[in-house]
This record gives sequence, structure tokens and C-alpha cells, in this order.
Amino acid sequence: MEHVVIAGGGPTGLWLAAELRLGGIPVTVLETRRKRDPHSKALTIHPRTLEVLATRGVLERFLAEGRRIPSGHFGGLDGRMDFGVLDTPYPFTLALPQARTEELLEEHGNAAGAQIRRGHQVTGLTKDEDGVSVEATGPDGLYTLRADYIVGCDGTRSTVREAAGIDFPGNDATTWLSRFGNAARRAAEYRRGRVLLAGDAAHMHYPAGGVGLNVGVQDATNLGWKLAATVAGTAPAGLLDSYHTERHPVGADLLLSTRAQTALMNAFSAEGQDLRALLSQLISTVPEFSRSLAEHLSALAVTYPAPAHHHPLTGHRAPNLELSDSTDLFTLLRTGRHVLLNFTGTPAPPSTPPHIITHAAHRPDPRPAWSTVRAALIRPDGHVAWASEQPDAEVLRAEAHVAVSATHR
Ligand SMILES: Cc1cc2nc3c(=O)[nH]c(=O)nc-3n(C[C@H](O)[C@H](O)[C@H](O)COP(=O)(O)OP(=O)(O)OC[C@H]3O[C@@H](n4cnc5c(N)ncnc54)[C@H](O)[C@@H]3O)c2cc1C
Repeated sequence: MEHVVIAGGGPTGLWLAAELRLGGIPVTVLETRRKRDPHSKALTIHPRTLEVLATRGVLERFLAEGRRIPSGHFGGLDGRMDFGVLDTPYPFTLALPQARTEELLEEHGNAAGAQIRRGHQVTGLTKDEDGVSVEATGPDGLYTLRADYIVGCDGTRSTVREAAGIDFPGNDATTWLSRFGNAARRAAEYRRGRVLLAGDAAHMHYPAGGVGLNVGVQDATNLGWKLAATVAGTAPAGLLDSYHTERHPVGADLLLSTRAQTALMNAFSAEGQDLRALLSQLISTVPEFSRSLAEHLSALAVTYPAPAHHHPLTGHRAPNLELSDSTDLFTLLRTGRHVLLNFTGTPAPPSTPPHIITHAAHRPDPRPAWSTVRAALIRPDGHVAWASEQPDAEVLRAEAHVAVSATHR
């Protein structure tokens, strides 16, 4: 019995494999290609993806080889967004050919202990109450693998998506007659029982803004720890379903943004040219407009829905909080565990289970949104699960206990 089978060893599948291994789950990647495609599609790695790579301790090799570009365009407009103003240690996009990105991700997956089988194609699947039977063909012919779950990371023509009967609604390509089109589609469900979809298998769009690979890696970062906890039997009810709840709207936003950019790139009429000129001027002259667009494109603005009355930071991505002279949040996240931060100045964290790291920061973070926070729980994917400004130490401790208890069964 394989615990998780991933169909597709592109960037999404390779990153997901490493994330599942971080959670201690055996994983097998089946990839059709015997050798990696030497022809790159993606070049641009955005700041949030750089942050994600940093939270797993693998960013340095990407930075060493890539070219840093401090500004970006939206839909080919002349006015360029300044990435330098973004609140991130990596205020730039990194240009690195996709073939090399995949090579580095595959090395990371192998080092984490993922089994990556090249020359193996998923051809179908059947589901039952206990698991999934994955049909595949490899160098020795047809075979079947049993798994708890299968994740389709097998690109826009996903066999997994079709075999599971998951709709892929959207629009067909219109004006574009190149090897890739401007069709825009999103899977109706990112999870159906024991079948999940991530990356291009879940969303398809014109490659405007250089974001597809980035969103795939971020899908996998959201899914990895949830699926690992589910397979291990420690996940609270509903955790795996929250993958769809959180990432499906991000897919909608992705299609909106890439369609808008495609429209701008095609705006050849006099009115269209005026629209381009106006937006370009706004980007060049209104810093808040430019910054907001850059936060959006870079995925630093991605926020997941939070229950009513929760602290306003809940669901937001946590920036790289400086916690002491020797450590910061991204470093603590390298273990792939939840991180409970204590800003009270008193070393009295509640007793915590092993999947939680506790850390007493030596001072509150100076960022306005964080300066009054007294404790916070950060998820393995770097988003805020809980935060509190509660002044009473005992009440705060009780709140933290509830938040920690909600992370596991
Ligand atoms: C011209 C162009 C430029 C782009 N530029 C950028 C950019 O700058 N930045 C960016 O972020 N994105 C960019 N993209 C998008 C990016 O290339 C994709 O979003 C990214 O490759 C998606 O990764 P993935 O792993 O989800 O899917 P894929 O890269 O499609 O990988 C899927 C893998 O699954 C394998 N596979 C398929 N079917 C099966 C099966 N049945 N069994 C087993 N294996 C299977 C395939 O061989 C493949 O290796 C660009 C795309 C294009 C076309």
C-alpha cells in the first residue's frame, strides 16, 4: 500500500512530494516522461514562492542561480510595479528557467525520501471506501498501485481529473493561435473524496504575469501538511476539505487576473489604448495602486477565510517576523510544524503536542499589524491560524490552548 500517489512530476507534484515527506508520509510520484523536458516554459518565480522555498531551507540554490528583477509589468503595460516596496526579504522576481527549477525541486524531493518513478504513466483509477487503485503503465507494462489518496498534478489535460469525473468549466481559447492558448478553466472541485487536484490540473490560463508555476507550488504548500496529517490520522475534522475552501477562490482570482491581463495585451482599439495609458499612468504615479497590484501578482496578498470575530490577522500570510538575534519565523517553519509564538515576555507557553514548536520572542514585532499581538499560532504553510492581543496572561493561555487543540485530533 502506497500512502499517497502523485500523478505528475512537474513543479507542483515534485514540491508536494517533498511536503508530504516532511510530514512523514510515504509518497510515490509517477511521471510519464523518462527525462525532464529541457524546454522551459516558466521563467518567473514570484516573492511568495521564494518565501515558501525559504521556509523549507532550500531557497539559497535558487537565489544563487537566478536573476533578480526588482520590478514587474501587468498585462504588458509600460508603467512598471516596484517590487522593492514589498514587505518581504525577497522584494523581486527571480528569473530561472523552469527546467532548472524542476531539477532543483526533484533533488529536494529525492533528498526528502520521495520515490519518483520516471517513465510511469497514470492511465486510470478506481475508488472505494478504503483507498484508491491507481492504474499505471511503466517499463514493465501495466500495473496497479493501492494508495490512501491520489493527487493529480498531471497538468491541464489531467488524466486524474477526468478519471475522477471532475468538471473543468471555463472558456475555450479565442484569438490566440500559438502552442498555448488563452483558454481559462478551473476544476469544479479540488477534492473529491480520495482524489485531489493541484497546479495546472486544477487551473488553466494564458501565461500572463508568470504565475502558473507559482500558484501550483502554493497549492501544494497548502495541501501538503493537511494531507499528511489526514493520512497520519491526526487531522481534525474538515482539515482536508479546507484545501478546496482556501485554494479554489485563489484559482478564481488567478483566472480573473490572467484574463484581465490578456484583455490589456489585446487592447489595440483606440479605447483600449486609452485604457492602457490610463492604467499605466496610475501604476507610475500612485504608489498604493502599484503596490497593491504587486502584492496581488506576487501572491503576498493571498488570505484565507477566517471565522467571524477572529483576530484580523487570521488567515493572512505571516511575514518573516524577527524573533530574536538568532532566529526568525521562516527559519522556525523549516520543520514543517505549527509554530506557537509568545510575545508576552514571560516564558510560560502552554504544554504543547509534538507537532507544535513554541518560541518566546524577545520583543513584539514592530509592524503595525503585529505590534500589539501577544501570541500567535502559525500554520506549517506560513499562514496565521490564530492570534490574540489578550492582556490577561491566564485568559491568553486558555485561548492558546484552544487554538493548539484545534490543530489535531
Ligand atoms: C509560455 C509559457 C510561459 C510560462 N511562464 C511562466 C512563468 O514565468 N512563471 C510561472 O509561474 N508559470 C509560467 N508558466 C506556467 C507554468 O509553466 C505551469 O503553470 C507549470 O508548469 C505548472 O506545473 P504543474 O506541475 O502543475 O504542471 P506541468 O508542468 O504540466 O507538469 C505536469 C507533469 O505531469 C506529467 N503527466 C501528465 N500526465 C501524466 C500521467 N497521466 N501520468 C503521469 N504523469 C503525467 C507531465 O509529463 C508533466 O511532467 C508558463 C507557461 C507557458 C506555456
